[in-house]
This record gives sequence, structure tokens and C-alpha cells, in this order.
Amino acid sequence: MQYNFIEFFKNIDLYALIDFVVLFAVLAIVICFFVYKRNIKVLILLLLGCALDILINILAELIGHSALEIARYITHFIVLFDIVAACVVYQNDLKNIFQKVSTSRNIELHNSNDELRASTLEILTACQDMAKQDVGAIIIIDSSGDIHENILDTGTRLDAVLSAPLLESIFNTKAPLHDGAVIVRGNRIIAAGCFLTLTQRNVNKEMGTRHRAAIGVTEETDVLSIVVSEETGIISVVKHGEIKRYMTMDKLNDEIEMAYGISPNVTPIIAREHKKKHKNRRFQ
Ligand code: ATP
Ligand code: MG
Repeated sequence: MQYNFIEFFKNIDLYALIDFVVLFAVLAIVICFFVYKRNIKVLILLLLGCALDILINILAELIGHSALEIARYITHFIVLFDIVAACVVYQNDLKNIFQKVSTSRNIELHNSNDELRASTLEILTACQDMAKQDVGAIIIIDSSGDIHENILDTGTRLDAVLSAPLLESIFNTKAPLHDGAVIVRGNRIIAAGCFLTLTQRNVNKEMGTRHRAAIGVTEETDVLSIVVSEETGIISVVKHGEIKRYMTMDKLNDEIEMAYGISPNVTPIIAREHKKKHKNRRFQ
């Protein structure tokens, strides 16, 4: 029995094994990608093209080497066409993958938990004020440095200490930087007026480009988007493409603390003070 087992491994063609593993891995990645994207039609097209190509090649081998030359040429062309079509359909995803690969994540946040809690409260205050005054805003909390330099370059670099008055003056409709998103890392505003890629998914018709941009950025990055609606004053948060609307002060506080990686269960003195100070305010 042991002899057979060793013989079996001895007889395995190493190159064929590597071929098989590579093919299996590529297929698994391609299938996972399309299943994740919920676009089975493109997957079927690609698999059909490959299956046809393999079938024609097997047939050609059986018949003779020079057989089915034109059919082989056409099926190779079909596979190539399928690949190009998939690249066109998923150009944004491919762009994001290459951007991610090229991003050096040398983001080091040196903020203490108290500093992050203080920043949380500044964001809460700004959102509350802007919602009351129907001022629109997008605030991206990028704790892991996922936002690519190209996105920061679409706006204006600031690297300023985060505060509610600064956020509110950025989004003031008369200010030059009010259009676009603010990117926050730790207790600093890194950039303002940034242009984000809109989601391609079908979303509620009520939601326009601000909400689509806030959703889009979370589809490929691990960030928290906070949106204040100019039209309704509704505050929403988005994570991994999922939008939660009608945020209350407490819920928003928890979401921001979670994005900052600090425990939402601990109610710091500063939070209690903030709640006392703003207890008479209406918060949507
Ligand atoms: P609101 O509820 O505030 O009206 P909305 O979802 O209906 O938001 P729009 O009314 O279209 O969206 O909001 C337009 C504003 O959204 C722009 O003035 C700009 O500030 C912002 N915005 C639009 N597209 C982008 C984008 N790609 N990236 C960042 N911000 C954007
Ligand atoms: Mg609108």
C-alpha cells in the first residue's frame, strides 16, 4: 500500500500539477470575483468562450494537428474578446485593484483614544449643525489609509487639526471647497473638495450624486462615509456599500468610534459633557 502511494506521487507530472493548480486558482478567483459582483452573465460568457476553445482544441488534437485551424483561431479570438469585454465592464474595479497595489500604506496614526473621542465629538457637532442648517456634506473617515493619493489630488490638501468650525466652514456653500468630500485621518483633515467615484449600483431615486459618491467610495475601501443631506438634513453613514439613514446622535457616535477603532461602549467624560451642552438641540 505504502509502495503504491509513493509510486503514485513519483508518477505525477510536476508541470501538469502546476498547470492544474494555476488553472484552478485562476478559475476560483474569476468565479469569486463575478459572484461577488453579482454579474453572472459576464461569467457565463467567459466560461462558455473558454469551454468552446478547449473543446475545439481537443477535437483538433483528436483529428490531427493541422485540423480545425480556422475554428481554433476563431475560438481564441472569442476568448480574447470575452476578456477585453470583461475588462471594459469592470474597468473601475481593475483601476481600484491597481491603485490599491500601488498604494504604499505608510499611514501611522499617533492619536490617543481621547484625541479620537474629541475628534468624534467635533464631527458630531459639525454634522448636527449642518443638518439643522441644511448644508450638504460628505466626510470620509479613512483610518487605514485606503484612500488613494489620486483621490486626494482631486481636492485640496489641508492636513489641519479637525474641528467642528473648520468642517462647517469647509462645507459652507459660499466657501470654495464646499463641493466634494473631506478626508479625515485620525484627528486631522487631510484634504477637502475631493471627487469620489460614484457607485454604479441602482440606489433609491431620492439619492443623488452626493449619496452615490459616498456609497461608491466604500465599495472598494475600508472607510466610513458620513453624508449630510442638503435637501432633507438627513444624516447617513455608509460602510462597505451599505447605507444606513436617519442617524441619531448616539448611533453616529458609535459608528465614528468604530471607524476610529475605539470602543463605543465607554462613555468618556467628554461625551457626557457634549451631550449636556447639546441636550436641547434637535438631531435628525
Ligand atoms: P443632497 O441630499 O444633499 O441633495 P444628493 O445625493 O441629492 O444630495 P446632489 O443633490 O446631486 O446629491 O448633490 C450634489 C453635490 O454632491 C455636489 O454639489 C457635490 O458637492 C457633491 N458631489 C457630487 N458628486 C460628487 C463626487 N463624485 N464626489 C464628491 N462629491 C460629490
Ligand atoms: Mg440633491
